[in-house]
Parts: sequence; structure tokens; C-alpha cells
Amino acid sequence: MQCHYCDRSADLTVEKDGVHVALCEEHFQEQLESLAASDALDEVREQLDVDRA
Ligand SMILES: [Zn+2]
Repeated sequence: MQCHYCDRSADLTVEKDGVHVALCEEHFQEQLESLAASDALDEVREQLDVDRA
């Protein structure tokens, strides 16, 4: 299987929006970081909501 983002062979697959995406190690790390970033944003948003309420 080939990485979704580059020409390297995929080391693993992740499920994103209900779709399985093949990723190499490097792009898997990138996806992890972007997921972590969006989780952090959600937490900030939740705290803002709490403050407003
Ligand atoms: Zn890749």
C-alpha cells in the first residue's frame, strides 16, 4: 500500500472522517500533530463557552 501523501510505502492506516487512509511513518506523525492541535483548539473553545455561561 502507498502513502496517501507521498510515494513511499505506507506503514499503517488511520481512519479519518470514516475513511481509511494509508500513511507512511512521517505523514502519520504529521496527522497526529494536526489532530492534537485540533483537540487543543476544541478544549480552548469549550473553556470559552464555560466562561460565557
Ligand atoms: Zn507519506
